[in-house]
Amino acid sequence: MDNKTYLEASARTASTQFHEDKITPAMVEMALQEAIATGNMLDAIKKGLYYGKSLPDNHPALDNKFTETDLDPRAIDQDILHAALGIYTEATEMLEAIYLTMKGAEFDKVNAAEELGDAEWYMAMLYRSLEETPENVKRVNIDKLRHRYPEKFRSMDAIDRDLDTEREILEKGHS
Ligand SMILES: [Mg+2]
Repeated sequence: MDNKTYLEASARTASTQFHEDKITPAMVEMALQEAIATGNMLDAIKKGLYYGKSLPDNHPALDNKFTETDLDPRAIDQDILHAALGIYTEATEMLEAIYLTMKGAEFDKVNAAEELGDAEWYMAMLYRSLEETPENVKRVNIDKLRHRYPEKFRSMDAIDRDLDTEREILEKGHS
């Protein structure tokens, strides 16, 4: 599926709701602060692993309780890890800009588009690693969403998903 078709098809399944009765501004602020802190922590891990940069002295991972683990970072393809960390950290940069705008700063669309481009770079790394093409991933994504939302986005369909059938669509599309 080409980009233009995907942009149009994906709009059909986007929520146009905004439930401020469920989520207060203070809840949003708390979650954004946590997400940005985690993203910055991951960014330093990414720069350490892939650029050889030392962690800053105040990095939480330098805490003694994190010295022992059975986790093996080499159990996953290094590019897949790099790409996933990168997508998270670019999303963090976007969230930081959004947070500042919610606090009164002007939203910088040029910077937002830059973060989008940076995220695309990491997505490209993931496509190469998974031996997938953007065209196929977009096509299968829309097939899955057509099943989930036959007409358009509905909250009940977003919450109650038929995961077995969605998995069948994904396996067929990515085999
Ligand atoms: Mg960036």
